[in-house]
Amino acid sequence: MSLIVKKFGGSSVANAERVFNVAKIIIEDYKKGNDVVVVVSAQGDTTDDLIDKANEINPDGGSKRELDMLLSAGEQISIALLAMAIEKLGFPVISLLGWQAGFSTDSNHGIARIKNVNSERIRNEIAKRNIVIVAGFQGLNKYDDITTLGRGGSDTSAVAIAASMKADVCQIYTDVDGVYTADPRKVPTAKKLDSITYDEMLELATLGAQVLNNRSVEMAKKYNVELEVLSSLENKPGTIVKETVKMEKTLIRGVAKDSNVATISVVGLQDTPGVAFKIFNKLAQHKINVDIILQSVGRDSTKDITFTVPKSDGKTAVQSINSLKDSLNYKEVTLDESVAKVSVVGAGMESHPGVASKMFEALYDAGINIRMISTSEIKISVLIDAEYADKAVRAVHDAFIS
Ligand code: ADP
Ligand code: ASP
Ligand code: MG
Repeated sequence: MSLIVKKFGGSSVANAERVFNVAKIIIEDYKKGNDVVVVVSAQGDTTDDLIDKANEINPDGGSKRELDMLLSAGEQISIALLAMAIEKLGFPVISLLGWQAGFSTDSNHGIARIKNVNSERIRNEIAKRNIVIVAGFQGLNKYDDITTLGRGGSDTSAVAIAASMKADVCQIYTDVDGVYTADPRKVPTAKKLDSITYDEMLELATLGAQVLNNRSVEMAKKYNVELEVLSSLENKPGTIVKETVKMEKTLIRGVAKDSNVATISVVGLQDTPGVAFKIFNKLAQHKINVDIILQSVGRDSTKDITFTVPKSDGKTAVQSINSLKDSLNYKEVTLDESVAKVSVVGAGMESHPGVASKMFEALYDAGINIRMISTSEIKISVLIDAEYADKAVRAVHDAFIS
């Protein structure tokens, strides 16, 4: 007998037929005598639809507390429907909201971090032989207000339960049958991976492969929770995410695209000490994450600094730099949202030279210009025009993975 945590994404529970399909997958494990805890996301596009509703009321955003109150409703619907389906099939079940399942978070509404999962209630329900269905993506802060964990956050809810209850397995069911070398919906030649390391998966997830939320991978690595990514529609083995995996011949584990990027250029800065500090300190005060940074030396002792931020932070970043105009005395600040980041990831590149040149050659052959480059031990990212992003992913993918 095992303790199994299963998570089902929005497309897996999108309609009544899919809900019953998921119910049957759950029941199958329960009937074998296992304890089963299930995390579900909101059905289909529910979260997007709720965001649209909020924008209808207040296009300027409004209070993040109220937005979390609204968005958490999506998961409340799906846990109840799934529990009803399991009940209809004749098995004991109970649905729990995040707070009922013991999820405490910090107070960063919209992107809250899980502080603790007190699994006492879940344990009590399991002891009564109930199947437990938990709402993903939500928790409660210290003021007893509902918080949400950020888009794709249900993956993290599942890993947090698996970690706190020391589950035997944590299975993430989705609409593809595993982690591929690139998004299989965009790259027809993408190959399914049998396994991938936490570090590689963390890079891929952070660089845009939405199949797993990056925080969930970070948490799985920290608490050594082995993950399996698999399909809710086809019964076959998926991809295992764990600490070490057999090195294959290929240097590259995958290619990812991130379109949620904007570049900001501060042009005509004085080429003196403290300039970069003032800019990036200001951005840090606004909690804006800066990724790639490029400094170019101009003429007449001036320089330009260009960097990337998440698209959603672009306008705030420009405003915050504009507030420095008097002390920095630069020429202008520009914002460009028509860019995308394409990255190759693979632990193998650390010990093999030539990966960067192969990537750049593939882009050159495809006629795609590189605007910025950044590297780490296990990844190389380039910033390019957004309109060529999918073409670039295919070109780079096919250069490395035959
Ligand atoms: P869920 O609703 O189940 O959480 P998501 O839409 O968040 O599902 O994630 C699954 C999607 O991730 C797939 O449909 C696929 O298009 C996309 N995806 C992007 N990169 C990859 C990759 N490398 N491997 C598999 N799927 C990927
Ligand atoms: N429903 C939330 C979202 O769409 C959480 C999730 O799907 O993981 O982002
Ligand atoms: Mg997801």
